[in-house]
Amino acid sequence: MTVNFKLTGLRTYRLQGGSHSVVRRTMSDIHGTVEKGLHIPVTDRTLAGVAEKVLAGSRIDDRDAHRILESGNIHLIGALAEHRKQRSSGRLVYFTVNKQINYTNVCSVRCKVCAYAKGRRAKGAYTMSVDEIIGELSQYREGLDEVHIVGGLHPDLRFDYYTSMLRGIRTRFPGVTIKAFTATEIGYFAGLYKMSVDRVLKELVDAGLDTMPGGGAEVLSDGIRGELFSGKESKDRWLETHRTAHVLGIKTNATMLYGHIETDDDIIGHLRQLRSLQDETAGFLTFVPLIFHPENTPLRGRVGTPTGIRKLKVVALSRLYLDNFPHIKAYWVMMSEAVTQIALHFGADDIDGTIGSEKVTHAAGARTPAGLTKEHMVAMIKETGYVPVRRDGRYKVIEVYE
Ligand code: SF4
Repeated sequence: MTVNFKLTGLRTYRLQGGSHSVVRRTMSDIHGTVEKGLHIPVTDRTLAGVAEKVLAGSRIDDRDAHRILESGNIHLIGALAEHRKQRSSGRLVYFTVNKQINYTNVCSVRCKVCAYAKGRRAKGAYTMSVDEIIGELSQYREGLDEVHIVGGLHPDLRFDYYTSMLRGIRTRFPGVTIKAFTATEIGYFAGLYKMSVDRVLKELVDAGLDTMPGGGAEVLSDGIRGELFSGKESKDRWLETHRTAHVLGIKTNATMLYGHIETDDDIIGHLRQLRSLQDETAGFLTFVPLIFHPENTPLRGRVGTPTGIRKLKVVALSRLYLDNFPHIKAYWVMMSEAVTQIALHFGADDIDGTIGSEKVTHAAGARTPAGLTKEHMVAMIKETGYVPVRRDGRYKVIEVYE
């Protein structure tokens, strides 16, 4: 079967043999456009309707999403996702010079996917003081754009531990974006300190918080949350916390942890709920599909690891389904550097940052380095043919490496 598309002002692709080769007929510059027809022979009939919608700029639905996850036509899926990415990011791919601070591994719940949490008196349990956090950030030599702060749900800390942490960082690093505390942590603070989510967020913003990371979303299914994340908030509470943040003007991110017991329906349901909230608030910056690492968790030996093709399809689906999200991230820590580079041709336009010393995923067996240099990240992106852009946590451009 052959489907011909005529487009104006868009990049041109010609996919041959249905699933085996992609020929780029014209190149656009960073913001450039070309005027050509788009010719896609589609041997996989099930994707023809999806392709028509994507090329017409229409929204795909849940049935289309299933077709993408079930199709083996990986080149067409990648070309469609890249086509949609070009409309929002052109040839730019973002990264940031950042440092992750995992301030405590003490946690009062026990998610079955977690190799990081410990009881407060367990061997290896730690909580960083504010001085230790500032000291660790001060040693970072790259010149920080963003600090990314997440930790366990510690039952004994006082609320002013968190506000002092933010004030200390803001004072010492006035220009840095402070991206801190998942919706799960915010909800926990609200319950522990008997405050509304609204009040918690206002006090944290007053102390220096800029944006929120997207963790704790896991899979937005109460069935999966009950089975693997018992003790965490409901999916509706996670969404409500982000809604509250958006109403207050706080930009946030969203993740999805996949590769354990979820089904395609669960993944699509997750994306549907995020797209719907984004339609309402436009408060999300980036969607980050996270790959589950089972080492050292109770699920070790019970679940496999997603294949490279599955990872690329999930990235592409994220770009195609979440048509209202500005950015889709390929998180190199979980994805590996090699697959991250390929994912940039499947709709991703961000690879996160230098990180410094990631602890949570490495506790679960990730074999990627604990951090990368800025030069390494620039080279990684350049090798894919895209233009690296150093950004801060709100996507303000700091440097373009043409
Ligand atoms: S994933 Fe987060 S909330 Fe769950 S046990 Fe680990 S640290 Fe605690």
